[in-house]
Amino acid sequence: MDTKEVLIRAKKWLIVNKVYLLGLLVPISLLFVYDSVGNFQSPSSSKQKQLPQGVAAMKVSKKAEYKWGFDLNQYDVASGTIQKNEFLSNILERYDVPYENVHQLSINAKDIFSVSKLRAGYQYHILTNKECGNKVMVYEPSVYKFVTYELDGNIGVDVYEKDIVLDTVTSSGIIESSLWNAMVDNGMDFELAAKMEDALAWSVDFHHIQKEDRFRLIYEQEYIDGKKAGIGKIIGAYYKNYGNEYYAIRYKNEKHDGFYDENGRTMEKVFLKAPLKYSRISSRYNKRRFHPVLKRVKPHLGTDYAAPYGTPIYAVGNGVVTKASRTRGNGNYVKIKHDKIYSTQYLHMQKFAKGIRPGIQVKQGQVIGYVGSTGLATGPHVCFRFWKNNKQVDHLRLNFPPPEPLPKEDLTKFFEVRDIIKKDLDAIPYQRVEKEGVELALNN
Ligand SMILES: [Zn+2]
Repeated sequence: MDTKEVLIRAKKWLIVNKVYLLGLLVPISLLFVYDSVGNFQSPSSSKQKQLPQGVAAMKVSKKAEYKWGFDLNQYDVASGTIQKNEFLSNILERYDVPYENVHQLSINAKDIFSVSKLRAGYQYHILTNKECGNKVMVYEPSVYKFVTYELDGNIGVDVYEKDIVLDTVTSSGIIESSLWNAMVDNGMDFELAAKMEDALAWSVDFHHIQKEDRFRLIYEQEYIDGKKAGIGKIIGAYYKNYGNEYYAIRYKNEKHDGFYDENGRTMEKVFLKAPLKYSRISSRYNKRRFHPVLKRVKPHLGTDYAAPYGTPIYAVGNGVVTKASRTRGNGNYVKIKHDKIYSTQYLHMQKFAKGIRPGIQVKQGQVIGYVGSTGLATGPHVCFRFWKNNKQVDHLRLNFPPPEPLPKEDLTKFFEVRDIIKKDLDAIPYQRVEKEGVELALNN
């Protein structure tokens, strides 16, 4: 998931409801259990490990103390923060780096990590070799990587990924009114909310979560340099909504990798619940609806989702575009044929997404256009129409056959994994953490 998507999702959580949060425990037992089952990456494994070349060959007299791949006993380290309107040459001048070297560096680094990417407010470190006086500048553009600029001799740049240590942790929460606020107040990452939603999106409608809804999560917490970094994979998720309980169990082997329900059926469905996010249903399928523009009763054979102009509209399932055109009533619209039985149609678009035209294949979740009010529309919305055997039907009332469970040969193993994860999920206590710091432990 890219940052933009995470931000968009975070926004949504803002407008949803309020949760009082989220205990954080580290059940040591988990570390063994998932390993012994054999389907999970070891929680403490490193994603990547790379050190600058030549490090191993260094002679170590004192006990080596490595950082960024250098033994700090052999270097003098000076650190500073890049100021506004400060150029690399300004900084390096202070450390007596000749201007020719800076110039050479800017050329050699151009295609790898250009010196123009250095940002004000970020720290830099100048390492000076105690023996030969050669200098290296270290810069950390994000928690995940660091950059070394060789300032003498072999002038150039290298970019390194940092070691990521994964720990298996849990959290839980009870919705009070706003999930997002509570997560932020308690130092939790919205990335966790987004990933929980990924695991459960086909089962739980996160637009309509309620007070007293509750969830439990087992997931990987990333650590870099001993500090919390991002969220890794969700291992198990539980959500209780309108009295219904949902489990998402992560299962991975050579052929399958994804979230499955308790019966080993994939959580992914053939059709998404709605063709856009963060929307409100402004008019449901209704055979006797009074049309706001035509001022007469006219059946409304679709579902209207109101959303701001330009909101992306997604294909709800895989298929082939059969129409991408314009009529007076529909405005700009797209129709997609999913299989012999089902088609979907999306009306009143501001414009089509790039490349959307009849004959092209689209994937579930792919952006096909943007919300507008072209055609007969009073405001920005998408009129979503669902066709079954060439008749328009109310997709909110359709019951699709459940997906097939995992094949028999995988199912036994899956059930072993499921039982362990489910037991651990069920054992996570709920906590309400009030803003003032008053903590109320609750049973179920
Ligand atoms: Zn409509």
